[in-house]
Order: sequence, then structure tokens, then C-alpha cells
Amino acid sequence: MIDSHCHLDLLASKVDLHVSLESAKAAGVTRIMAPSINPPSWKALQALSEQYGSILPIDTALGLHPYFLTDSNQNSQASTTDAHEQGISESLERLEAAAANLHLSVKAVGETGIDGHINVPFTLQKRVLHAHLKLADAISLPVILHHRKSHHLLLEALKQARYQGVGVVHAFSGSVEAAKAYIERGFYLGIGGTITYERARKTRDTLKYLLENHFDKILLETDAPDMPMYGRQGVPNEPQYLSDVVDVMHELFAVSPDQTTSITTENYLRLFNAA
Ligand SMILES: [Zn+2]
Repeated sequence: MIDSHCHLDLLASKVDLHVSLESAKAAGVTRIMAPSINPPSWKALQALSEQYGSILPIDTALGLHPYFLTDSNQNSQASTTDAHEQGISESLERLEAAAANLHLSVKAVGETGIDGHINVPFTLQKRVLHAHLKLADAISLPVILHHRKSHHLLLEALKQARYQGVGVVHAFSGSVEAAKAYIERGFYLGIGGTITYERARKTRDTLKYLLENHFDKILLETDAPDMPMYGRQGVPNEPQYLSDVVDVMHELFAVSPDQTTSITTENYLRLFNAA
């Protein structure tokens, strides 16, 4: 199994990464994509990919996560100061510079996206997303998208940016219509801990549709250390629990774990041009 979305730098502050990655390997995880959140995380993840690459291959991505676009001086209002805007512009310049001199582990741009639940103005989130999409097209790497109450805004942004590339909508939850709209634009969908919860009825129904019609567009993910699997709330999520997602797919839809593993592994390697 490949964990297509694991925040290794954030995980490192919660668990012993060496133990965690050995456990993941023992549980059948063969590779990890570590998306980044802000400029310091780019180098941190690249170092982790070198440090732990002997346990299993670690791919990385370059991006500015919407959560980390907040203004540390002004966190209670959805507005921006000039200094904040300036800081974001500088981060975007650094992003371009990092992309001009790619570390070997970098296989994607992200994580970027739009979150409908945070105190970051949509105008700013859209501007940053747009810059990521332009960059991804320019350097021909797939993009890793974050969503929350924002499918319509993301789809609109892809259209407005005339995005030509491919990518993944990570931690996908939503309707069959939303899933189809992304697939039509060349996107893959990341399936993670959400489906281990019985209340995720709509996303489970969508997954059933995807398994029957678009198995070649599904990736597995944990989003560790966040998004705990059902029954594991209260402890950090870790890549070793990825098999919970595969097991639930087996229980609900009778797809064999072997089939899920081999198809999603192929999907990952195709999307990220990895080997
Ligand atoms: Zn993430």
C-alpha cells in the first residue's frame, strides 16, 4: 500500500518517526508522499526523505497549505494586513525558487487548496492556489489539493487557471457529481479515514461508485497525524493504520485487499511518475 498523504514533519513532533516508519513497513506500506505546509517544511521533508529513505521511499511536495496562510499577528478576523500580504508574496517567490532547483524527492506541488472553514479570506486562498496551479503546469508536476466545503470553488479555480495538468483531491469526501467533475479534469481522489466512519454515508456511496467505475482514479491515504481512523481517536494517526481503509473497503464493497493494494499502487506511480 502507498500512503499518498502523510505529513511526516508534523508526525515527527508526535511520535518516534523511525519506529513509526518501521511499523508502517511491517504493516505493508511501501511508499509515502509527504506534502508540505510552508517554506520551512520543504527542507525538513527533503531531509526526512533522505534520512528514512532506507526504510521506505518518501516522495515530497512543495506548497503552502491554506491553514498556514493565517496572519500570526491578526488571527481573529478574516482580513489581511499589508505586511501579511507581503509575507505571502515572499513565500510564493520562495516557492518558485525552490521549484527552479528541485530536490530529487519532489514529485508534486502542494498541498494547496481552499478551505471553507478557516479565517483566511477566500481572495487570498484563491490567489495562492492560482499560483500553485500555474507553477504545477510550468514544471509539469501534479498538484495536491485540499478541500473543505469548497468543491465548487476548487473546480472554478481549475477552470479559471486553465489548469492543464493532473493531480489529486486529497481526503476526498463528497457526492458522485463532485467526484465525476474532478475525474473529468484529470484528477485522482484520495481515500482515507473518513470512510471508516459509519456516518460518512455519502462518501461511502461515492466510493462504491468509484470502485465500480473509476478504480483507476483512487489513491489511499492517512493524512497522518490527523484524521484518525474509526476506533483510533485520541492518538496520532500513523501510516501503519492505512490498512484500516483497505479493510473497510473489503468489508463494505467486497474488494479484496490485494486488488485494492495493487490498483492503488499502480495509480499512485502513474500519477506521480514515480518508480
Ligand atoms: Zn494534508
